[in-house]
Amino acid sequence: MTYTATGKLPPQTDHAAQALDLAAENQALRARMAYLLEQAERNHSIMTRHQAFDLDIVGAGNFPELVGTIFRVLPIISELDSVTLTLIDEDADIRHVMAKLDVVFEDFPDLIFAEDLDALGFDLGRRNAYSAAPKPLLGMYDPLRHARPFPNAPAGLQSVALVPLLRNRRIIGSLNLGSCDPTRFTPSLGTDFIEHMASIIAICLENVISNEMLKYIGLTDSLTGVYNRRYIDRRLLEEIARARRQSYPISFMYIDIDHFKRVNDTVGHGGGDEVLREVAGRIKNELRASDALARFGGEEFVVLLIDANLDSAAFVAERIRASVAGNMITLSPELQLSVTVSIGVACLNPGEAEGDAEVIARAWIARADELLYEAKESGRNRVVSVSGKAA
Ligand code: GH3
Ligand code: MG
Ligand code: MG
Repeated sequence: MTYTATGKLPPQTDHAAQALDLAAENQALRARMAYLLEQAERNHSIMTRHQAFDLDIVGAGNFPELVGTIFRVLPIISELDSVTLTLIDEDADIRHVMAKLDVVFEDFPDLIFAEDLDALGFDLGRRNAYSAAPKPLLGMYDPLRHARPFPNAPAGLQSVALVPLLRNRRIIGSLNLGSCDPTRFTPSLGTDFIEHMASIIAICLENVISNEMLKYIGLTDSLTGVYNRRYIDRRLLEEIARARRQSYPISFMYIDIDHFKRVNDTVGHGGGDEVLREVAGRIKNELRASDALARFGGEEFVVLLIDANLDSAAFVAERIRASVAGNMITLSPELQLSVTVSIGVACLNPGEAEGDAEVIARAWIARADELLYEAKESGRNRVVSVSGKAA
């Protein structure tokens, strides 16, 4: 039994009221606990989802895989209504290399390229190597101001965060987040979490872009921009295997510029380089997208034609010969010269693709080379596709 300070028993009504208060307080505390628990669980699940996302993007093997994952997964795990990426690409190098590596930009309508830093809209102040990195811009969505970062803004977009993507204090782009909830991104919100997320995305982007650049450099000829020998050697093996599986003919062209030593002697090495570029361009113009053109070395080019028999390959070769010989190459208004090429063409028919692909490839190239030699022997500026029958 409990007594009050005055030693009297408290009235029954006070007891009941106190019990009720306690019960209410208890209930409120339980509700608060449940809320906190729910929050903790939610935060835990967001963190787990983000950790999985981080692993996914760190593991992305190439550019399309990385941006594809960002656009697909980030809106879901962060409960966002729009996620876009702006990349600084001053001289269109990124676009050029990615296009060469067959990236289809139409697949990524929310990937935006900007020519310079100013286009991103961050407060850059007077930046130098020691200035603080710009902070994310958070606030209400404004269709006019945000037209560039959100070219396909969903209906009802209310608040946005433009987060700089930084690598060693250099801004490489911006990660743009949009929500239909007006309170989601307000200027007073802490930005640690989104800045951390952006820093991981920036690292992944930089890695993937430099890897793709290296891949590109490793597979292309820097003088003419066409593929190099390493690329074609690899591609030949793949195509021999594919032609075998799918039973279609593939053809190989060996192209050599006639008397190129004389060209160099006449116009100098720099002029000779210019001629190589022009010839590469003229060959390329006669090819389909599925054909592969490479500079094999010096003044020699090769073309791999997919699903092309000897006749159709010889037809294309003749078009190439005519296109090089047809018009003089202009090196300067005063300096024009005539250049011709000789071409050997060899076809690999479905039945001939059996056996070790490397052995087949070597024999096939050697055959085209022999036919090229015949073309040279019989006067140059010609195509030979059948031995003993120089055109
Ligand atoms: P042919 O008609 O028999 O093919 O005669 P050619 O003079 O073309 O023969 P050859 O293959 O002996 O000469 C190739 C020349 O190409 C020799 C070399 O100086 C030149 N060359 C090789 N690579 C380059 C290059 O990158 N730039 C320039 N300008 N010249 C090159
Ligand atoms: Mg040669
Ligand atoms: Mg030559």
